[in-house]
Amino acid sequence: MIPPPRVDRHTHLEGSLDPAWVRSEAARLGRTIPGLTEAFWEGRAHSFEAFIETFLFACAFLDSGEAVAGALEAAVARLAPSAEGLPRGIDLWVSPHWLVRERKQLSLSELWKGLEQGMESAAAQGVRVAVIIDAVNHFGPAHGHEVLDLVLGDRPPWVVGFSTGGMERVPFREWAPVFERARKAGLRLAAHAGENGPASGIREAILEAGVERIVHAVRATEDPAILELLAERRVAVDACPTSNFALVPGLERHPLPRFLEAGIRCGIGTDDPGVMICDLSGEWRKAAETGLPPDALQRLRQHSEEDAWSLQIGT
Ligand SMILES: [Zn+2]
Repeated sequence: MIPPPRVDRHTHLEGSLDPAWVRSEAARLGRTIPGLTEAFWEGRAHSFEAFIETFLFACAFLDSGEAVAGALEAAVARLAPSAEGLPRGIDLWVSPHWLVRERKQLSLSELWKGLEQGMESAAAQGVRVAVIIDAVNHFGPAHGHEVLDLVLGDRPPWVVGFSTGGMERVPFREWAPVFERARKAGLRLAAHAGENGPASGIREAILEAGVERIVHAVRATEDPAILELLAERRVAVDACPTSNFALVPGLERHPLPRFLEAGIRCGIGTDDPGVMICDLSGEWRKAAETGLPPDALQRLRQHSEEDAWSLQIGT
């Protein structure tokens, strides 16, 4: 078996808290864990509603620098060991506007401090972390500008990218000015696209918003021209099997084999591994189980690492 890549190419800070830690915090604070959340953690519930409820319940405990550092430490623990002793990495999506402005769970400086603390502990284990700021597509471009207003004035050097997530309801052409502003500020551009929105959103994100990386892209298989576009432009695609099977309705076979056949550069990520319980080794096994031949699996491992923003830091 080819060993897993050295990097988790897509994971959210807000979805990384360890359920055991959340359980003990809930007990300490006298908060009852909702039945649906318990059922989701234990794999007895599979609905999108259960996912959102679990995500929001756990995310509410991310209210101090210490909790932020703990979430990052849990993400580090979900990486696969590196037999070669080479650096490992996490491309970490973070939603500062959600935590600081919407939910008011902690201040921006507490969030940055917690991340720095988590990164120190990660570095001691040979793990590099790159942060990608996530905005919410369905909140629209005005929200996107607010996210940039919040972070651009006080941006640590390890914040390297800007992305959108959430429901893909607002066309990327409307988001283009926000992406352009982020690009001019020196951030690299990514977007969740082709997950809960149409394949055409992937084309628009690339051609109109200048995005160089697509998270999920599952629905790209609906249009061969989009597969070609992803390959031609060498757009990196982050594939997260557990999350895709849980959240993309009707997905029976993962599109990874088709992506690799089309020459698309893909990587493997865990997405929200504290919510939809998984780790990188497990995701790698699932990728292998999609029926990839050994040379394709080897390519997947190589591209996972080559295109990881965390592993490009300091090189
Ligand atoms: Zn994601």
